[in-house]
Amino acid sequence: MTAGTTITAVRIASDSPEIGQRMHSLVSELYPICRSITGNGLRETLRRVGQRIPLQIHEVATGTLVYDWTVPREWNIQDAWVKNSRGERVIDFQKSNLHVVNYSVPVRKTLSLRELKQHLYTHSGQPDWTPYRTSYYRETWGFCISQRQLDALPEDEYEVVIDSSLEDGHLSYGELLLPGESPEEILISTHCCHPSLCNDNLSGIAVACFLAQALASKPHRYSYRFLFIPGTIGSITWLSRNEHVVPRIKHGLVLACVGDRGGFSYKKSRRGNAEIDRAVQHLLMHSGETHSVRDFSPYGFDERQYCSPGFNLPVGCLNRTSHGEFSEYHTSADDLDFVSAEALEGTLQNCLEIFDLLENNRRYCNLNPKCEPQLGKRGLYREFGGQVDAQARELAMLWVLNLSDGQNSLLDIAERSGLRFDAIQKAAASLKDHGLLRLAEN
Ligand SMILES: [Zn+2]
Repeated sequence: MTAGTTITAVRIASDSPEIGQRMHSLVSELYPICRSITGNGLRETLRRVGQRIPLQIHEVATGTLVYDWTVPREWNIQDAWVKNSRGERVIDFQKSNLHVVNYSVPVRKTLSLRELKQHLYTHSGQPDWTPYRTSYYRETWGFCISQRQLDALPEDEYEVVIDSSLEDGHLSYGELLLPGESPEEILISTHCCHPSLCNDNLSGIAVACFLAQALASKPHRYSYRFLFIPGTIGSITWLSRNEHVVPRIKHGLVLACVGDRGGFSYKKSRRGNAEIDRAVQHLLMHSGETHSVRDFSPYGFDERQYCSPGFNLPVGCLNRTSHGEFSEYHTSADDLDFVSAEALEGTLQNCLEIFDLLENNRRYCNLNPKCEPQLGKRGLYREFGGQVDAQARELAMLWVLNLSDGQNSLLDIAERSGLRFDAIQKAAASLKDHGLLRLAEN
């Protein structure tokens, strides 16, 4: 494969003009489902993703020990409501699954307003929004409503029903491996345990799904492993069952909150200078778009597990607006309007560019290392092309020739020269085609 082959292969994938719309449609399709870290909502979500990509579904039994954790009992819910004394549903799970604290135990009671209030949660800053709450590891129950709904509740006797079950079952996750020329892997991980919330994290599911589709039909050097997992317990479970795979993971990305209209934000791996960290930084810096790059911290999404000291994997986290920095986060306002087709497509494109860079980031040896080769006689000067372009191409070729000693990667050369990776990569492809470079073996 020449240095130029892969770059076209991966980038071509998102040329389709309506791809953002199709991603948004997937978000819309999954939006009503009541997901959790276990249960039928999660399973149904994986099944629907599996209609688009050949996902392998794994089921791990309740009680399985996964490092310091235990796979919990499976939670399922049919319905839930609070009815007033006239029999009207004043809080209704059928209107929004956010109204029930996720993992609520079954309840059937009649309560006074004062008793009921001890189980009601609101968002103090936004009187019209319903918050998203969970209680995975403490057996309790509750309802989430807007402050305005709470304020409107009169003294009354309320019938409270949560028709849920918490029983031995399984934790489900989806996995897809797209084999490449090399067994070395790029890991793409996204959590899929949140109910009706779009940016966190139906956006990550949609981007991962369309990435897998794009990569499946194209040649690639790396193998790509996609994980659709419940947050935290899912990555812990996967790691505990796949320690033999871990040494093959050379790069990784956690995708979360990637559908809002904000600029990109990248959180580096724990290593801080992994190739994925440098690749993403390079592309964001040269994108001309507003962005931010942050150091690793042990708070956030599943990168916490991949970057725990026993693994220390080169896995960063790509967001648009970071969690906690948009007020819609974990509320009913993280809805279908909060994510856009354009933003989803932009994230897809950005990920493809990241993988493109990694695919093409090779080391070369200059086959004419004693003084500069004469580029003119090889037709490597385009003297009748645009002057500026010709100068830029020449500069890129000189950098590649000078630093291609078998040690520097093309990203090393791009960073040191201040030139864009794609210019360096094109120069290397040209020089290789003219017999002036050869691939250095690792
Ligand atoms: Zn979340």
